[in-house]
Amino acid sequence: MIKAVTGTRDTLPSDIPKWNYLESSVKSVFSNFNYKEIRTPVFEETNLFARGIGEATDIVGKEMYTFLDRSGESITLRPEMTAGVVRAFIEHSLDKKQNLNKLFYIGAMFRQERPQAGRFRQFHQFGAEALGSNDPLLDAEMIIMAYEIFSRLGLKNLLVKINSLGVPSSRENYKNILKQYLAPHFALLSSESKKRFETNILRLFDSKEEADRKIMENAPLLIEYLDEESLNHFEKVKQALLSTGIPFEVDARLVRGLDYYTHTTFEVVSGSVGSQSALCGGGRYNLLVKELGGPDLPGVGFAAGMERILLACENEKSFEPEEEKIDLYMVALDKGLENFIYGTAVKFRRNGISVDLDYLGRSVKAQMREANRTNAKYVLLVGGEEFSRGEVVLKNMANGEQKIFDKNDFEKILLSIKEN
Ligand code: AMP
Repeated sequence: MIKAVTGTRDTLPSDIPKWNYLESSVKSVFSNFNYKEIRTPVFEETNLFARGIGEATDIVGKEMYTFLDRSGESITLRPEMTAGVVRAFIEHSLDKKQNLNKLFYIGAMFRQERPQAGRFRQFHQFGAEALGSNDPLLDAEMIIMAYEIFSRLGLKNLLVKINSLGVPSSRENYKNILKQYLAPHFALLSSESKKRFETNILRLFDSKEEADRKIMENAPLLIEYLDEESLNHFEKVKQALLSTGIPFEVDARLVRGLDYYTHTTFEVVSGSVGSQSALCGGGRYNLLVKELGGPDLPGVGFAAGMERILLACENEKSFEPEEEKIDLYMVALDKGLENFIYGTAVKFRRNGISVDLDYLGRSVKAQMREANRTNAKYVLLVGGEEFSRGEVVLKNMANGEQKIFDKNDFEKILLSIKEN
């Protein structure tokens, strides 16, 4: 038997209502903040991610699905969306059409990670990118939108963590200070951290190794070395969050290991999903657009993992998606009425009514059971004495009320169903 590839999942019809609810909440919040949807290809030239995410990151270093296509070009399935969105922004000169582009997306991402609860190889993210402004209000807006989406889903057990990575000059200065601090401890670092010491030293704060953690406990913090401009920017972000009542905590150890990040970084973590607790992460990336060959324009964004959010929702029982219902189930009381029933059903469907009927030659009792199983609001009983008198019976399944109609009086039946 062929099974789904490790780390990928099917979303079965019974799971669709909660996905639809999540997606509609996402779209309505982004619409409330006037973000416009963008869709980019699922695969891109490998170079885009190598440059746009950074060679020294785990994503590019060990997680990408990269392959040569038949013409020998190196292709990568997108592991995240920012690089693709920025590529599209540059390629279509969106900055020429408007000075600030507020964009959002929903889609599948691919990373070859070790599968575990809340971590998959094909997973789904929604996120936003605002390109063209350095206003700290936009940094705050990312956090506020993510928080608003989580709130609309009924999630409670949340913690917003924010930090600032400042501007590159103060960060470079700090990296040297961190190097000096770490130099005498170098021999004790894990082998991974020894590598990162050279390639991506800030990531040492992310290490889960006990030895590394001990050493990092007393490390100097970037926030203590920020220049005035960076501190001002960070202060404005905090004030904006305070003014909207979003609870947050400054976490000076929250570094996102991407070189193009500037100023704000943030994460929202859930206490309801186990060790993979980050529901979303994001930050400002004022260097990325230029790095990818575009104009020198600032950007800020975030990405949220949809599987993890739904896991948190399930664990908190935070919402109950509405049961899926159909408007009408047509029950044949006698054989030989197939053409009338089928023709009428299609006519109802053309009028926007959701209708189902029996395709399995079932008994009347079994058809009624099926009408109940599909949560039909109405049943149209076709056959028996009524039908020989030229009539059909419309039964309201919520209150049991029955109405008799002339079998050819389609418009009246339609009206009666639509009234509800
Ligand atoms: P990142 O793009 O790594 O900052 O991730 C943003 C969010 O996407 C995380 O907070 C997770 O919720 C989600 N995410 C990242 N990687 C995975 C994965 N392999 N499986 C499921 N969700 C993921």
